[in-house]
Amino acid sequence: MLIYDTLIIGSGPTALTAAVFTARANLKVLVIGEPKKSMLVSAADLGNYIGTDGMSGPEWLDKGIEQIKKYGSEFLEQEVVHVEKRENFKIKTADNKTYESKTIIICTGVALRPAGIAGEKELLGKGVHTCVACDGWPYKQKKVGVIGNTNHAAEEVIELLALTKDVTLISNGKEFSISKELMDELNKAKIKFLKDKVSEFKGEKKLEKVILADNQELVFDGVFLALGATTALAFAQKLALDTKNNYLVVDSEGKTSLDGCYAAGACTGGNLQIAKSAGEGCNAAISVIKKVKGLANYSDLT
Ligand SMILES: Cc1cc2nc3c(=O)[nH]c(=O)nc-3n(C[C@H](O)[C@H](O)[C@H](O)COP(=O)(O)OP(=O)(O)OC[C@H]3O[C@@H](n4cnc5c(N)ncnc54)[C@H](O)[C@@H]3O)c2cc1C
Repeated sequence: MLIYDTLIIGSGPTALTAAVFTARANLKVLVIGEPKKSMLVSAADLGNYIGTDGMSGPEWLDKGIEQIKKYGSEFLEQEVVHVEKRENFKIKTADNKTYESKTIIICTGVALRPAGIAGEKELLGKGVHTCVACDGWPYKQKKVGVIGNTNHAAEEVIELLALTKDVTLISNGKEFSISKELMDELNKAKIKFLKDKVSEFKGEKKLEKVILADNQELVFDGVFLALGATTALAFAQKLALDTKNNYLVVDSEGKTSLDGCYAAGACTGGNLQIAKSAGEGCNAAISVIKKVKGLANYSDLT
């Protein structure tokens, strides 16, 4: 059986960046992932990643996959269902095939929790959004709602306040569970709070109204869902990796607690941005290159 130098699990910005670095270092690389499930597929315009202004997430992913293949990385659109470590890592995909690799890089991202509100799927990216840092800019001086009841929602509101003061935080029928420090900031900014349950997002081509459970209609230019995220912890359990708050723990070189297993990007926590993911993907890739080639240093002049 062919043994890869590294097998990269995932197909978002982290995985593709790790692949381009390892492939260009002439390692034998296999990427296994499902690009249609990357968070980036719902991004309409990557205006905050330099060089991609006006480009959509799917366009970026397609170009990325083309680029890694050009440099010799193999790419397989599949789900990884099992991984174990013996002498090497053995990886099984949903189509029941097995692959073997000296190292692995886990780049499996996170999944943002949906709200399950009628109209949410249809209007996603069209007035209903999930990330202020990604999609907040067009709402400068506009009227915006944020749906959520935790610190995540409060942080999204605080980020929006740099763009607009007209922000309403809607807990969607739950009690607010926000730290005192963040709540003090929200109160100081005099944002509006609502505890109503939201029953529907309405609009033809874009969001026009938010309908509450008591049929009250609210008009917002845009709404941001801030309900936290679920993480791909299955690998952590299979390989007994260290985790913290449901994210994989890595050191400054992207190493997990298991020799030969690296992780990077959104599955390790922190900011949900391409720049962060790409940087960490590069970092983990360089650690893998050093390990596989037995180098003390690689592209580090310190
Ligand atoms: C609506 C929206 C707009 C956004 N806009 C921007 C923006 O403008 N600029 C910006 O910088 N960021 C933006 N982001 C954030 C950005 O998408 C994420 O930060 C980035 O995609 C995280 O990269 P990642 O590679 O860590 O994870 P992901 O891109 O989510 O990739 C993880 C991949 O791993 C795969 N995977 C998971 N489990 C398995 C498995 N078992 N087997 C195989 N594959 C698996 C998933 O299918 C997925 O393809 C946006 C996000 C959203 C939701």
